[in-house]
Amino acid sequence: MSLRSLPPVNAILESAEMSALVDESPRSVLVVAAREAVAQARAELTRAKPGIAPPSLESIVRDAVRRVRAELRPSLRSVINATGVVLHTNLGRAILADEAVRAVTEAARRYTNLELCLETGSRGSRMAHLEPLLRELLGAEAALVVNNNAAAMLLALNTFAAGREAVVSRGQLVEIGGSFRIPEILERAGALLREVGTTNKTRLADYERAIGPKTGMLVRVHPSNFAMVGFTQDVEREDLVRLARRKRVLLLEDIGSGALVDFARWGLSGEPLAREALGQGVPLVCFSADKLLGGPQAGILAGTKRAVAALRANPMARALRVDKLTLAALEATLRLYRDPASLERSVPTIRMLGEPVAAVRARARRVLRALGADRAVKLGAEMVACTTEVGGGAMPLARVQSYAVALRPARGKVDALARSLREGPDAVLGRIESGRLLLDLRTVAPGEIVALVASVVRVLEEEP
Ligand SMILES: *Cc1c(COP(=O)(O)O)cnc(C)c1O
Repeated sequence: MSLRSLPPVNAILESAEMSALVDESPRSVLVVAAREAVAQARAELTRAKPGIAPPSLESIVRDAVRRVRAELRPSLRSVINATGVVLHTNLGRAILADEAVRAVTEAARRYTNLELCLETGSRGSRMAHLEPLLRELLGAEAALVVNNNAAAMLLALNTFAAGREAVVSRGQLVEIGGSFRIPEILERAGALLREVGTTNKTRLADYERAIGPKTGMLVRVHPSNFAMVGFTQDVEREDLVRLARRKRVLLLEDIGSGALVDFARWGLSGEPLAREALGQGVPLVCFSADKLLGGPQAGILAGTKRAVAALRANPMARALRVDKLTLAALEATLRLYRDPASLERSVPTIRMLGEPVAAVRARARRVLRALGADRAVKLGAEMVACTTEVGGGAMPLARVQSYAVALRPARGKVDALARSLREGPDAVLGRIESGRLLLDLRTVAPGEIVALVASVVRVLEEEP
């Protein structure tokens, strides 16, 4: 055994490469990396057959440097979304408008009037910054913002149906993803689930029969992420509104994706609008702010003064409240909606969903050109027309036309290629389709193309 021939940790630390990192890295990180690199070399040597030469000093130093670099990178970092899915929950859903980014930076850096009324100098409400805008944009009497739409549901159910029954159609007992299931959140809110109808058919009479002295509220859920076809029936919103009024029970509608404008303009339809629901008399709606709205993670509740006042009075509201950075981002995003004609430019989510396919195609061409003919051949790269989804559990049936650069690596190592691209300094996320890795340009900004191409080139050059 030649374990003794391994260099001491100090020799690694004193190497030129590691010494060069002292300004960038805390000493503790350097020491741990050096120790781990030596330990790794020792483990390899112990496993190796007798007579095999120990790892060289250079290779251990290289390993230590790699460990330091990996350790210095933030864990939460930006990635290039080449999946084509605009609202990718694993990639953080909506990216913020420049205005929202500026508002967040400013609110983070300096003191704000978060809970202070500047006119009177007395304590104010953090909701005061958003409520007027939400009232204006939604046509609601009052509004409240909480941590996300799941929190909005939890708060509403707890406020109006704790120890009482919440009536929901069996066709709407959905799972949204990330283990958000309507029946479970309902139970945790202290409400008793009263299911009505069947999976495929629910009638007004089903609701009517279920309403009684124990009823706390009716809940209507937009089945965002799936669609039912065939022998189906559901109750019209207006009929449910009338029934709830007549029976004097609250109706909550979970709108889901929170589109503030009609996406039919961009060939996408099927998402309910909060404004429309409120206009048709729904007393309380809730929806996400980081889906089609294109803002930060938050849940918006809007409706009658009475309903929102009850929500506010629930101590749970304090536990679910949003911080100043979210408020800053949301206010700035909502302000952009005052000018609907410019949303395609101002809100990235809408820009990406609404961009004409020819522009996406032009970006795919740019990527191919930048790769160059030789590399393109080596990678089996070509431009392909494709379709992608909206994501975020919105518009499950909608297909967005797009263009991608498809890579078909030699010997079918498509998983390895996808992984190398993910793990690089500029992580690139694509999607694998029939043995190819598609880099979909719909979700790649023009400013990201150079980094995208550099990542592909790097992976190609690292190939043994
Ligand atoms: C997305 C969604 C939710 C959950 O919203 P979050 O903001 O992710 O908490 C709830 N209900 C519906 C109908 C949804 O589409």
